[in-house]
Amino acid sequence: MSLIVQKYGGTSVADVEHLKNVARKVAEWKKKTDHLVVVLSAMAGETNVLLRLAHEACDNPDEREMDMLLSSGERVTIPLLAMILKSRGIKAISLTGRQSGIFTDGMHTRARIKTIKTDSIKKYLDDDYVVVVAGFQGYSEENDAVTTLGRGGSDTTAVALAVALGADRCEIYTDVDGVYTTDPRVVPSARRLHHVSYEEMLEMSGLGAKVLQIRSVEFAAKFGMPILVKSSFQDGPGTWVKAEDAHMEKVLVASVVYDKAQAKLTIAGVPDSPGIAAKIFGAIAGNGINVDMIIQNISVHGLTDISLTVPTADAKKTLDRLEAVKEEINAREVLTDGNIGKVSVVGVGMRSHPGVAAKMFSMLADAGISLQMISTSEIKISCIINEEDVDRAVRMLHEGFELGKE
Ligand code: ASP
Ligand code: MG
Repeated sequence: MSLIVQKYGGTSVADVEHLKNVARKVAEWKKKTDHLVVVLSAMAGETNVLLRLAHEACDNPDEREMDMLLSSGERVTIPLLAMILKSRGIKAISLTGRQSGIFTDGMHTRARIKTIKTDSIKKYLDDDYVVVVAGFQGYSEENDAVTTLGRGGSDTTAVALAVALGADRCEIYTDVDGVYTTDPRVVPSARRLHHVSYEEMLEMSGLGAKVLQIRSVEFAAKFGMPILVKSSFQDGPGTWVKAEDAHMEKVLVASVVYDKAQAKLTIAGVPDSPGIAAKIFGAIAGNGINVDMIIQNISVHGLTDISLTVPTADAKKTLDRLEAVKEEINAREVLTDGNIGKVSVVGVGMRSHPGVAAKMFSMLADAGISLQMISTSEIKISCIINEEDVDRAVRMLHEGFELGKE
């Protein structure tokens, strides 16, 4: 029996017209596969509207109520699609996260899926229903409350359901026709990739590529679930995200990724003694702040500087924490620089080919772009540069590594 899980993102369900387009696609697919589960996002922009309402309502919205509110976006799209399908004579039913058996931990607004009880969905599938599931939401038994899975969480709903149901694949329908060598808005010659390995996609999502929520890729990688990223607006082969196999050409660099929403904070004049870094990072940890890069300078006369980068959204919170710890450890000052960006190259081929870093640095040097911080993993190299240099750097690297060529 064939089973496909499809997910349609916000722009694909932006209004009733778009939902009718999705219904047409679903009807076509229902002819080609035995079982079909469709996961939907909220209408484009809707989750942002709800977030804004919450922050208008009060300064620090209660997280349980926030999840109750945010999960309502998907509650609108699923019954609408199910209605349209039924009106066209297709057996369909919409289910909330809880009705779909998606159980999470109690971490509101960023819950993790613990188990999926598939009995109910399976019953409907056996009865030949198209099952339309609300993405992004689950249910926490410990809190007896609706939870959400973090922004972009519908991808994770879809992949997790595909795994739990033993689907053949998980298809993600979005407003782009696949995963690109870089952002086509910055580099018009960017090319759609035929396939990307889980590892590359994990790095790319972590570095700011918005196509897939990183947790969905982690899920897929862990259980070997193939993902196919496609456009819901035009036909095409899309991009496969799957395990690296012998047939995959091991390109040196698969893509150039950038992220401008980064800030650098420096705590300067820190007395250099054992345990200082632990104190500083201890003060930041546990506040949901995602520290990315860290650099500690060599100490001069017993004083050192420590710099770190965080997402712009966490900059204020981080600054407050560092100001507090500054007093405690007798550091001189805390500096913030929001005018930075991160540009990275990713590719599994780097593992076996040295010299990519040298090539990247010399391309940036030739362009007169200076590097503030560098970090590497086995398959990626990231540099922090001035924000206004980011677009130029992306274009240089895309061209230098010849990513526009087949
Ligand atoms: N609607 C949610 C969001 O905007 C979840 C999703 O679309 O994946 O983040
Ligand atoms: Mg998304």
